[in-house]
Amino acid sequence: MNILLLCLLYLSLVHASTHVTISNETFHDRAASFGPKLSSNGKIGFMIEPAQDPTGCSLVTPPSTDWIALLSRGGCSFITKVRYMQKSGAIAVVIGDPNNPGWITMYSPDDTTDIMIPSVFLARNEYRKLLHLSKLLNTPMVAILQPDENVTWPLIDVLIIVIVSPCLVLILIYASWKARQSILHKRELAPISVVSKLNIKVFDLQEQKEHEERESCAICLEDYESGNELRLLPCNHYYHSMCVDLWLTTKKKCCPICKMDVTNTEVTPLLLEAGIF
Ligand SMILES: [Zn+2]
Ligand SMILES: [Zn+2]
Repeated sequence: MNILLLCLLYLSLVHASTHVTISNETFHDRAASFGPKLSSNGKIGFMIEPAQDPTGCSLVTPPSTDWIALLSRGGCSFITKVRYMQKSGAIAVVIGDPNNPGWITMYSPDDTTDIMIPSVFLARNEYRKLLHLSKLLNTPMVAILQPDENVTWPLIDVLIIVIVSPCLVLILIYASWKARQSILHKRELAPISVVSKLNIKVFDLQEQKEHEERESCAICLEDYESGNELRLLPCNHYYHSMCVDLWLTTKKKCCPICKMDVTNTEVTPLLLEAGIF
């Protein structure tokens, strides 16, 4: 999880792009580690290579208002170029590598709090295409420096993912456990269709008195009264119909006294002793 966080933070720091409106082309670039980050609105301006010093290692006369300096790597450090261009009125700096195809993140070990404009790095292929395009046009080329929407993850989103993901996993585990418990519980119950087929008879107190003492329902502990509906289970035990139906369909599919499974179809109901049913 920590590795994921670091990767996402890395992506949020380095990826950006330069969009050229006249050709509708987008060049991927990499934001510097110093200076302000590009806002979601991006930075729009005229991208111009300063003719006085294409490396940007010295002050130049601003070629335009709202201009973005397109510079070549080399001659001085990245931070020096950005400082000079900031003093020369540029609103952003794009530094391209004329020789190497590799990507780097521009960095400075010095204090960079004075840098007020964003800067990005272009690898060789992207830089050459952009430079070629700017030289093809007679007028200054309008470009937009923008953070890459596809891979830029604002910090708050990253934190939400890091915090919410484990919670989602725990919720899924809990839901799965509950579903399994529910299935197991249902296996312990008797279907209503099976219970409703078990024999039933109306209790007659007069008949019962002839044999022995009064009997009671082992579930509710109430004595049977004349007219009570009793359910006879395959094991010959009987209870109030309402009591045992509820027991079998919501608690357990076994007889409360002898634990016989009422859904076992091999059991044939036996007749009760004479006088009860
Ligand atoms: Zn009962
Ligand atoms: Zn029984």
